[in-house]
Amino acid sequence: MAKNILHCSFCGRSRDEVKILIAGQEGHICENCVDHAREIIEQELMVREEKTTPSTFKLSVKKPVEVKKFLDEYVIGQDEAKKVMAVAVYNHYKRLQYKNNDAPKDEVEIEKSNIIMVGETGTGKTLLAKTIAKLLNVPFAIVDATVFTEAGYVGEDVESILTRLLQVCNYDVAAAERGIVYIDEIDKIARKSDNPSITRDVSGEGVQQGMLKLLEGTDVLVPPQGGRKHPEQKLIKINTQNILFICGGAFDGIDRVIARRVQTNTIGFNVDKTQQENMKKNLLRYVNAQDLKAFGLIPELLGRLPVVTHLDPLDASTLRAILTEPKNALIKQYVRLFELEGIQLTIEDDVLDFMVEKALEYKLGARGLRSICEGILTDAMFELPSSKEKYFTLDLEYAQRKFDKSKMSLLKVA
Ligand code: ADP
Repeated sequence: MAKNILHCSFCGRSRDEVKILIAGQEGHICENCVDHAREIIEQELMVREEKTTPSTFKLSVKKPVEVKKFLDEYVIGQDEAKKVMAVAVYNHYKRLQYKNNDAPKDEVEIEKSNIIMVGETGTGKTLLAKTIAKLLNVPFAIVDATVFTEAGYVGEDVESILTRLLQVCNYDVAAAERGIVYIDEIDKIARKSDNPSITRDVSGEGVQQGMLKLLEGTDVLVPPQGGRKHPEQKLIKINTQNILFICGGAFDGIDRVIARRVQTNTIGFNVDKTQQENMKKNLLRYVNAQDLKAFGLIPELLGRLPVVTHLDPLDASTLRAILTEPKNALIKQYVRLFELEGIQLTIEDDVLDFMVEKALEYKLGARGLRSICEGILTDAMFELPSSKEKYFTLDLEYAQRKFDKSKMSLLKVA
């Protein structure tokens, strides 16, 4: 290095190779090294804080009946799933308390009750998991199973499931270790056929294998920023023993698998035609681990998801109730929006029936209700704030006219 040319004392770059060179008492630092140093400090502090900050999340355990009651305020129908979740969550948190109370070592060990929910898309799986987390006041993260890939392939490492959990509780590790993770679209990482394949199945089985250790309860090293792990990164250690995992998926076509099994089981028994017809109507009700295995989930994974439950498809009366009954029902939200504008919104009953009818006709489920409402009410929401109107009544003729004009009407599924 030439003596009188200034250099960064950290990376050695000369004055002409950098934008800024800051002088210290005995040396200089360039902007690149400042950035790099900041990254190191942030990571170091994150790891240190995790060891010292006491957890801010207080555990509040509710009895199963209370849990179900709370769920009823937000989620319509789905009684079985609610009950099963209420019990699983209650047992899980009882187990946590029991641990906290330092039970004698030779006591019976209560195992974790991770849950798997099977139900068509838009039937309330995520809503159920979210609502439970709200009640329990624990960190809650939603992740999508499809972004994960087997180690060594493009995509995120399964450990980054826990990064999301850490992020929602501001890297409070103690809180994250008691959190709930909802893994959506678990059916998308199913093995493509029932036979283990000789060639590698990038997206499916490898990811399932990767998830095993997370679900079961061990120390996992988590990259603080998610994505892929890389060698120089500081990793945060999280114990997953007390993290509740809830998985959900639509499992398209699983009804055929269930039908096959149920049929085989009922042959030779006295099951009459009407009983058979009833069974066929909602086969999901009979779903069990065996069916999920036939669908392509590996037995080891299923072993770590001991609670299997289902969500019913939404019929007209459920959709109608979803519009008006939940605590933050769509219609209540629109009434509130208009109220904030000083306008009293009245929606006639036959308009609600019309919305439900369209949601069913367009096969949009509960998610579609929102777009239907928007399609019908956008013009009113656009014009009324600039008018002097104090009342707005939404009747069937107006709703039909606006719906036919909206983009929604082009979406009809054949
Ligand atoms: P998924 O089963 O695909 O996870 P979601 O829980 O995300 O479905 O549901 C989508 C939206 O539909 C929710 O945000 C909610 O507004 C509405 N919804 C679906 N099912 C119900 C239900 N049973 N009760 C109340 N709202 C529901």
